[in-house]
Formats: sequence, C-alpha cells, structure tokens
Amino acid sequence: LRRLVLVLGDQLDLGAAAFDGFDPACDAVWMAEVAEESTHVWSSQPRIAMFIAAMRHFAAALRDAGLPLHYRRLDDTDAQEDLAAQLRADIATLRPQTLVLTRPGDWRVLQALQAVASEAGLPLALREDRHFYTTPADFAAHAARRKGLRMEFFYRELRRRFDVLMDGDEPLGGQWNFDADNRQAFGPAGPGFDLPQPPRFEPDAITREVIALVRERFAGHPGRLDHFAWPLTRTQALQSLDAFIRERLPLFGPYQDAIWPGEPWLYHAQLSAALNLKLLTPREVVSAAQAEVRAGRVSLASGEGFIRQILGWREYVRGIYWTRMPAYAEANALDARHDLPAWYWTGDTDMACLRDAITQTLDHGYAHHIQRLMVTGLFALLYGVEPAQVHAWYLSVYVDAVEWVELPNTLGMSQYADGGVMASKPYIASGKYIDRQSPLCGGCRYRPDERTGERACPFTTLYWDFLLRHEARFAEHPRLALQVRALGRVGDAERHCIREQARALRSQG
Ligand code: FAD
Ligand code: SF4
Repeated sequence: LRRLVLVLGDQLDLGAAAFDGFDPACDAVWMAEVAEESTHVWSSQPRIAMFIAAMRHFAAALRDAGLPLHYRRLDDTDAQEDLAAQLRADIATLRPQTLVLTRPGDWRVLQALQAVASEAGLPLALREDRHFYTTPADFAAHAARRKGLRMEFFYRELRRRFDVLMDGDEPLGGQWNFDADNRQAFGPAGPGFDLPQPPRFEPDAITREVIALVRERFAGHPGRLDHFAWPLTRTQALQSLDAFIRERLPLFGPYQDAIWPGEPWLYHAQLSAALNLKLLTPREVVSAAQAEVRAGRVSLASGEGFIRQILGWREYVRGIYWTRMPAYAEANALDARHDLPAWYWTGDTDMACLRDAITQTLDHGYAHHIQRLMVTGLFALLYGVEPAQVHAWYLSVYVDAVEWVELPNTLGMSQYADGGVMASKPYIASGKYIDRQSPLCGGCRYRPDERTGERACPFTTLYWDFLLRHEARFAEHPRLALQVRALGRVGDAERHCIREQARALRSQG
C-alpha cells in the first residue's frame, strides 16, 4: 500500500485535500469509529449518533466512488478503544508507506496521530483544510499585523479578500455591520403559527442501526434520540441549505437574538453540524446567501448578519484555536472554581429559561447561539463554574461540537476565561435580559428584576455578585465600567445580602 488516507469523523468531504492524487490502484482510505471519541467527554447520544451515522453514510459514498476503504466499526470484535491504538494496529496489517491527513479539528487528535506515525517510522503528510477560507497561518499573519485581536477587523479583511458583499472597495450598502437593524425580540404574540420548520430527515436503515447501537452501548450518556432527524449526507445537507435560504434567511437577522420556548429553530440555519462535518462548504453557504441579497429577496441587514457568522466568527474562532492551543484550554482568567451544577445534564431546575434550553439541547443536540451564550453560558459565567467543566459540557451535548469551534466560543466568548482574547468584555447580564428576549420569565417562579429575597432570579443575584467579585478588575474597563459603576448605588447591607444569597445558590449546586 502506497498511501493510507486517514479520514476522521468531521472530514466527510470527497473533495478534501487528503484525497488529492489518490490512486485506487495503490492507495486506500482508513476510517475508524472508536469509543474514546464518545467518552473522553461525556458525549450525548445525539452527538455520538450524528458522527457515527454521518461516517457510515460517507463510507457508503466512498465505496460507491470506488475508493478502497478500511472501515473500523465500533462493534467490530477487534475494535480498539482509541484512534491511536486503532491506527497502530491497522498500520501493522496494512503496511502503508505514507499516511495522509487533512488537518483535524482537534489538537489532541493531531498530537495522537502524529505520535503513532513517528513511532511507526512513517511520514505523515498533513494537508491544510481547504474547507475553510483561511489557514491558521493566515490568521497568525493577521494577528501579527495588529495590536489587539477583534473579529470585526479579520472579517473586513476577508470580505475584501474574497469579494463578499462588496461594492468595489467599499462594503455593499456603505456599512460593514447592520446590527442596529437586527436583534429584535418577538412581540407578545410570539413568532407566529407559520414559523417555517426546517426539513427533517427520518432515519434510514443505516441511521436506525446506529441509533440502536448508541442506545445500547452508551445507554448512560445524556440526551435522547427520539427526535433525531439531522442531515447526514451531502444531498440532505444541500436540501437543508436550500430550505434555510428560501424560508428562514429573510428573517434570520431580525430574530437572531430572540428566544421562544418550545421553538428550537426559529429563523436559524441549523447548518453548523453539516458544515463542521464538511458535508457543506462555507463558500457555498455564503454564496447562496449573497445571491439572495443581490437579487433583492433578502435584506442586506439579514444577509450580512448571517454571512458574518460564517465568514467572520467561524474563521476567526478557528484561527484563535490553532494559534493558541494547547495553553488555551487551560485558561481561567477569572479564577472560576465551582463545579458545574448537576442539572446541566438533565434540565431538572426551576429556572424556566435554563430548563427550556437544556431540555431542548438534550432532545435535539441543538440550541441556538443566544441560548448558548446568554442562558446556559451566562449562568455558568455568573455562577463561577470552572471553565474546563463548562467546556466539557458544551463539547458533549451539541451535534455540531468539534473542539476547534466549541472551545474558543465557550472558554473565550462565553466564559471570558481567556481574559479578553475572543471577546472585548465578559457577556454579563441580569435576568432582565432574558425577560426582554423571551416570554420565559412570565412562566417562572422567579422574578428577573429582583436580586435578593425568595423570588429573586438567580441570574440577577449572581449578576450583582459577579460585579461585586470583580469590581476592581473591571472598574476601568471601557465597555464594562458603566455596569460596575451601578454598584455605587448599592449600600453595604444590600451588598451583604447579595453575597449571602449567591453563596446559598452555589451551595445548593
Ligand atoms: P446560525 O445561528 O444560523 O448561524 C449560521 C452559521 O454560522 C452556523 O451554522 C455556524 O456555522 C456559524 N456560526 C454562528 N455563530 C458562530 C460562532 N460564534 N462561532 C463559529 N461559527 C458560528 N458552533 C459550532 O459550530 N460548534 C460548537 O460546538 C459551538 N459551541 C458553542 C458554544 C458556546 C458557548 C457558544 C456561545 C457558541 C457556540 N457555537 C458553536 C456557535 C453557535 O452558537 C453555533 O454555531 C450555532 O448556534 C449553530 O446553529 P445554526 O447552524 O442554526 O447557526
Ligand atoms: Fe430565567 Fe430568571 Fe427569567 Fe426565571 S426569572 S426565566 S430564571 S431569567
């Protein structure tokens, strides 16, 4: 065997760089389902099913395309526990001359596979991932040119470089950002009865077999599989993209920050898993959105708001990840030390907003950005949960969770554990923010505007406690000083009550 092309669970793209020069006469593909990828964090059943089912569908596509494939199933009798052990065993029997790999999404996996290659005395050709607009080296060069990092500047560079929503040298419409037109909440009547529902892909025979395997093998893992209907093939992913562009993109911008109980999808794309598994390319998603704007079917504000998530945030977080790992994973700038409350794994809490977001997460392996940032993430930040535990939770529960994207979002954007690399300030708010964005507080036993007392909203208590705990650190912060200054109106007795109530909340876990 000349080359063994290693394909990981998030590299399901026949056009990937690892396949360049592939010759079926002397090369082969290697894929392996291994238990450790589902157990190194307590991966949820939807997430495990997503990866394994998509891998098995991709294996079928490889076979159809006539590529020789060595595929290890989780239930093979001689299956090894982790990727390194499996590869070591298979190298011994297949005896390739070279290993080829597209850059993986996880630093840990890259280290492990490089170690196996060097142990076996085999060259490992690491190829850059063409799926992304930029490489880690592009990001490093950008960072070297600037004093501080901000997504907005990287994004503008990429708009120009890839000619996205540009009018010559100027941004289309004369502005880079239309956030002022976005970010509305639904009125009291809610999102309406004709909320478009994204396509569901009922499990086929391959997926049903995977669901049964996951239910049996990972029975104790969180999450449920009754609603599993994610796109798992390239064809299905393209159908999802098409439905989003036609039915939900027009209102994506206005309602991107809204929350409505029992409505997980709203106007979001529901495309992150398909993108992260490489069933779709960001270029085709961005082009499709741009075409709608240019044709006048989608407002510039909505189209730009969406494109910024992909061309901006998605590329930016990947740059942060690859230029900062492995130290990044250890960051804990706010010295947060508490354990993650156990109900994060069940949704069993009286707080209506958290119950809704977590139940939905466990049912679907999905929550939209504002639920992740301003409900589950915000609570962990205010509570002071150790960032590594927050990271383990996010990496476990979402079908789109791959470390390169999950870690900077969790540690950086949501927990401010990197001290301001990702986000210019900690995203903190009291329960009043959730009250503005959703009707959830109306059905909750707590009151978002009360910070102490029996009915005080835990977010609100912990928000004031956060300001008290970090008063000195943020007193001069340009974007937080105003919030800190409000502490000036809180007397000593009230400060004491806030601290005591926060302590009591934490002691309940
Ligand atoms: P939409 O809201 O419709 O956005 C469109 C696309 O833009 C997404 O599909 C995604 O590819 C991209 N995108 C949007 N926001 C971001 C972002 N902040 N970073 C990178 N890409 C973005 N996204 C993941 O893909 N995997 C994760 O594991 C993940 N973990 C997160 C953890 C936390 C704490 C937070 C705050 C955010 C996380 N995100 C993650 C980002 C974002 O929440 C999800 O990409 C989004 O909710 C996916 O749903 P959607 O496809 O409907 O996205
Ligand atoms: Fe959440 Fe507080 Fe509102 Fe209850 S009152 S739903 S805990 S923000």
